[in-house]
Amino acid sequence: MNEDFSLGKMSADARLTATFKYYEKTEQNGEIIITACLGEGDVPRLNRGYGLDGNELWLSLNNLYQSIREKNDTTAADDIISWCQQYAHPYYASEDIEEYRWDIEKDTEYWDFSTNILGNFTFDVHTMRKDLESLYRDTLVILMFKKCLERLDVSTDLAQITWTNEFADFNSFPMQKHLGKISAYLNKMSGVTMKLGLDENGELKVMPDFHSVFDAARFALSQYVSIPTDYPIAYADRVGVATCECCGRLFIKNGNRQKYCDNPECKKERNRRKSRTAYRRKIQEENDNRWA
Ligand SMILES: [Zn+2]
Repeated sequence: MNEDFSLGKMSADARLTATFKYYEKTEQNGEIIITACLGEGDVPRLNRGYGLDGNELWLSLNNLYQSIREKNDTTAADDIISWCQQYAHPYYASEDIEEYRWDIEKDTEYWDFSTNILGNFTFDVHTMRKDLESLYRDTLVILMFKKCLERLDVSTDLAQITWTNEFADFNSFPMQKHLGKISAYLNKMSGVTMKLGLDENGELKVMPDFHSVFDAARFALSQYVSIPTDYPIAYADRVGVATCECCGRLFIKNGNRQKYCDNPECKKERNRRKSRTAYRRKIQEENDNRWA
């Protein structure tokens, strides 16, 4: 593997995260709260990383945002809980799960205390929503920046950036005049810092200082846009990301020209559009022949 891309593994390897089987949603002072629960003698599943690579984590969070954006907090909580059960608890406990403590996996007392008494694995839907929205916005803006810097047409990207007019002129050239705005946006975006920690073998290791799945996702986004576009898709950790023309979700492309995600409904829609285009072409040809 090319050395330049070896960092791509970092988000997957960096941290121990916990996946819980059960969550409870409750209402407290009008806020919907989500709490991980453990039965007696239960422990969460521990993962090195998130049970998926950084790119998938990044895209799955964007898709979670799109699926809950029109829903109220109570209904959105169900989608968020399903995401947590599939992937990982989104926020790290104030007290980290220590990398070097593999025995922690069987330490039911520790987990009971941390989860059920300290409430370390509790968060509110409102905070999660805000974090999802901010990641989604950064994602669309930064993917648009990348295309702009490559002098590609960004009109479809701009149509999705509905919350601000700040970039309305990004479809005009020269591109150099946009560099100031791009730089200002990047400076404001939260980045990833590094820290020295102990790894699973109890050895010193430089690792990213992630506090939530959102930090890991932003790291994946940053790496994705930093890799030159002329590298082939699926080379090392490079993947192609596109917006599905049917459902609007972000997905990882299997090939350069794929326009629809793998959702069966979107595949059906693709086939319908294909046959409609074929039909239109046939009518056009018939008309052309009639007037010829
Ligand atoms: Zn789709």
